[in-house]
Amino acid sequence: MAARKKPGKATRRPKSANLTSRSGTGGGRARRAQGRTDSSEPRRCCGTDMVHERLLREAPGYADGRAAVENHCWRMTRAGMTGRSGCTEIPVVVHVVHRTAAENISEQQIESQIDVLNADFRKKNADISKVPAAFSTLADDSRIVFKLASEDPDGNPTSGITRRSTSVSGFSHDDSVKFHSSGGTDAWPRDRYLNIWVCQLSGGLLGYAQFPGGPADTDGVVILHSAFGTTGTAAAPFDKGRTTTHEIGHWLNLRHIWGDDGTGCSGSDFVADTPNQGGPNYGTPTFPSESCGNGPHGDMFMNYMDYVDDEAMVMFTTGQVSRMQAALDGPRSGLGSGVACEQGPKLKVVDDPASLKFRDDPATLKFSDDPATLKFSDDPATLKFLDDPGTLKFIDDPGTLKFFDDSGSLKFFDDGSDPRLDPIKSPGLDKPPHSDFGGDPGWPSFPFRQGGYGGGGGAMPFVLSTPHHSSAWAGSYPGAAQARVAQLEQQLSLLHEQLSQAQQAQAAGPLSPTDQATVERMQQEFQRLQAEYQQLTQGER
Ligand SMILES: [Zn+2]
Repeated sequence: MAARKKPGKATRRPKSANLTSRSGTGGGRARRAQGRTDSSEPRRCCGTDMVHERLLREAPGYADGRAAVENHCWRMTRAGMTGRSGCTEIPVVVHVVHRTAAENISEQQIESQIDVLNADFRKKNADISKVPAAFSTLADDSRIVFKLASEDPDGNPTSGITRRSTSVSGFSHDDSVKFHSSGGTDAWPRDRYLNIWVCQLSGGLLGYAQFPGGPADTDGVVILHSAFGTTGTAAAPFDKGRTTTHEIGHWLNLRHIWGDDGTGCSGSDFVADTPNQGGPNYGTPTFPSESCGNGPHGDMFMNYMDYVDDEAMVMFTTGQVSRMQAALDGPRSGLGSGVACEQGPKLKVVDDPASLKFRDDPATLKFSDDPATLKFSDDPATLKFLDDPGTLKFIDDPGTLKFFDDSGSLKFFDDGSDPRLDPIKSPGLDKPPHSDFGGDPGWPSFPFRQGGYGGGGGAMPFVLSTPHHSSAWAGSYPGAAQARVAQLEQQLSLLHEQLSQAQQAQAAGPLSPTDQATVERMQQEFQRLQAEYQQLTQGER
């Protein structure tokens, strides 16, 4: 069944490029995060990079911590290891920090957010159908589920929710919401819980996260109350719970999909299966939206790690899942418990089952509407439903059978017991889990070293992926930055010489395919090192 995007929807926003030029923030493709613009369209604004930069400047162990995380991730990815077997259930504590009654959000609003996470991270979200065919094989199940904690740090029963009245009218990304002494609530131990703070944020900020490798007492994510969950104070266009999905992506080591280099084409999110992309996309872009010569399919703007509106972000990729699993295997290895994926999100009927109508051959269509046992016996390819015409829709891809209506409120998830309704299986799940974080069994050298840069051999900058970050780091570690610049000059000079020789050889006659491939690798390496060199030396000019 075809994707069910409605063409010509009246509320569709213009492409972000138009939006930018209309708001007069500069010509060309300047699409930086700027909070709200004078176009009056609210835009996604995430504070994770600002936190990252602050920690680089102020937390001496942070750069090393990030290097360790990336080394582990790199090694696992290279070895084709897929992380934990089965699914991982992560206990969540939601700290509600409120000044007004509205900010003291309801339990229902909190549960609606947990539901969204369990759909999004298991690729069970109904709107996965919005993924264009060009990217559909890349969408993947992270095998992570979330559950409100039932036991507090002292071993007492809990709802998984803490509430505190505060006098702070708007928190910023300075982490003060994470401490009782500054009007917030102290974190629960990060090796047992994912901490989510929900509060009023100022400055148009929707939320922020701390990457793995940072300080323990600020570990977790912070979300604006009106961008949390799907009901209560949740407000469009950020009322589908995707801000939390995005921020937990960061918390599990995902970078923004455009590579955090402003609008340039040299940044990377360290994920191989996401296209190279210029800057962030906003609103609800129309496919394809090209940048950095990434046509014909263009940006993967429907990814949770872009800046589009909630209704437009619908997927993680296999490469992103690998990074998240590497985070669970490494810096977050003590967290969560293994559960069988088949027993992950249970079958759910979020609607009044009595109001549903089905039309089919009574002799072949069978189902019981006990939510715990709902089964369909029919050919998924021909199963038909009759309901309010025009609103009830379903996807009958036999691998991922899901039902939903246009409002997004009706959802069916299978329980995995019927092979036709089998959830997506990630490849390589039989491989043993890998847990040697900190060791180095299989790889002779790490590409990422202190301060965020590695030696040669395909190393890439990871911490300092923007000139802005590079300046912060170089300022904090001038000696290391100077040493790296000298090393880069040597490497670039050597590569330049080798490439010149290759050019001479090419002039004499065509190279063998093997040699040609080597030359191409060297050229790519040269470009990478040059980009790193430029970032590091930019602040000095
Ligand atoms: Zn972000």
